[in-house]
Amino acid sequence: MSNIRVRFAPSPTGPLHIGGVRTALYNYLFAKKHGGTFLLRIEDTDQGRYVPGAEDYIIESLKWCGILPDEGQGIGGPFAPYRQSERKEIYQKHALELVSNGSAYYAFDTPDELDAKRQSEAAAGNHNFKYDHISRRAMKNALTLPAHEVQHRLATGEDYVIRLKVPENETVMFTDLIRGEVSFQTGELDDKVLMKSDGMPTYHLANIVDDHLMKITHVIRGEEWLPSTGHHVLLYRAFGWEAIMPKFSHLPLILKPDGKGKLSKRDGAKFGMPVFPLAWKAESEEDSFDGFREFGFLPQAVINFLAFLGWNPGTEQEIFSLAELCEAFSLEKISKGGARFDYDKAKWYNQQYLHAAADSDLAAQIKPLAEAKGYQVSDEYLAKVCHLMKGRATFLSDLVVQASYLFGDVQSFDNENIVKRWKPESHPNFEALAVLMESTEPFDAPTLEERVKNLMTERSLKPGEVMPLLRIALAGTMQGPGVYEMMVVLGRQRTVARLRRAFDYFDTLNP
Ligand code: GLU
Repeated sequence: MSNIRVRFAPSPTGPLHIGGVRTALYNYLFAKKHGGTFLLRIEDTDQGRYVPGAEDYIIESLKWCGILPDEGQGIGGPFAPYRQSERKEIYQKHALELVSNGSAYYAFDTPDELDAKRQSEAAAGNHNFKYDHISRRAMKNALTLPAHEVQHRLATGEDYVIRLKVPENETVMFTDLIRGEVSFQTGELDDKVLMKSDGMPTYHLANIVDDHLMKITHVIRGEEWLPSTGHHVLLYRAFGWEAIMPKFSHLPLILKPDGKGKLSKRDGAKFGMPVFPLAWKAESEEDSFDGFREFGFLPQAVINFLAFLGWNPGTEQEIFSLAELCEAFSLEKISKGGARFDYDKAKWYNQQYLHAAADSDLAAQIKPLAEAKGYQVSDEYLAKVCHLMKGRATFLSDLVVQASYLFGDVQSFDNENIVKRWKPESHPNFEALAVLMESTEPFDAPTLEERVKNLMTERSLKPGEVMPLLRIALAGTMQGPGVYEMMVVLGRQRTVARLRRAFDYFDTLNP
């Protein structure tokens, strides 16, 4: 194992967005490429935004995708606990360390006082009040109050927060492995709260402390965290860890299918597509939805699709197994610009993977669906159906839904095409086909094809007069897999009975 260590650090504030899965995937690929460690840390210090069930959802999503952490929440490891709410003392100790070395300070402004200040600033034309190196001079904090008063307030248990003391006039610089050099002027940064009055750290403090303690070497995360990185570098500096801080990579945004703006939760309903890995059941119908899994995607296809949302190998190859992705992946090939969420491409990937999947694997996956529909069939039969249908399927569910006539009788016929094609005087010809099927030996596709062709020649029938009607008789529609292959799956008896029943029915439409 190399010393490369990366982490996926989601906050359990709701179901994990597909962009979060991509972040996890890129971390995983980077770790595997370099023989490193991929860990899962749950950043749940914002109790106000905590959503029950979200952590389980995250873990289940990663499991479904096959991007399994080596270490972390739900697995364990040398730096446990990996759930931040269980690491409170660690953050408190570190916040106090920053207070003692002068990098942070106590602030006693109440929420009401902060609101009042914001309003008075707005009234004076400043709508962007920031608690920063200028405004802090007029606020209630350890930089303005006499030392004995600060001690008194602390001793009497008054509410306080700890804020980062951002220096006035410095440049913070770091090299982003995707974006190159990024710099911030400290004068523009606010004095972020590090420790809240409930004793919980904010994201900024907990994130930096944990990345350091958990020996994270590379931080790979979404672009939305880029603006926070100035503060993060200042925190590393304040702790004296700047020389060994992780290397940053900020991933490009995922854009809506039309390329206009960031892909959002609501785009799922709007475009009729999944934007989450798994279904989420919320109290209200409106907030509940299906994920890629329930839409009938194979996880391998989702992974392949996501890998290409912002990265490409620089070759023509588009189909990559997870192992091949691990091999080919590199941070340098990630693009800076946003990646369009092309749902058609996702479906294309799924078709490719369905087509290539083993029949028995697919059968196992669609079994619950077939059972839910009340179909009683063996695993072998399911596998035959999958073999027949997978070349045309976009979703796993298509293997069941579009094949309903292979599980039971034809439910509805394409009457329009029957009326157009069926001539009652041809009934004897079709009956001859049924008779032929009764004795064709072996009952396999090549033999059936040969016999039917011979019979058509003998009776001077054109394929166009025969095949579409045979197909409709068996499947109800003009679409579907090969006619002879269908016959083989249905078996001789069912085929013959079905044909005869259908021909009688055709007569009633065109007497
Ligand atoms: N907890 C943050 C999130 O929810 C993690 C950001 C980071 O990776 O630093 O995305």
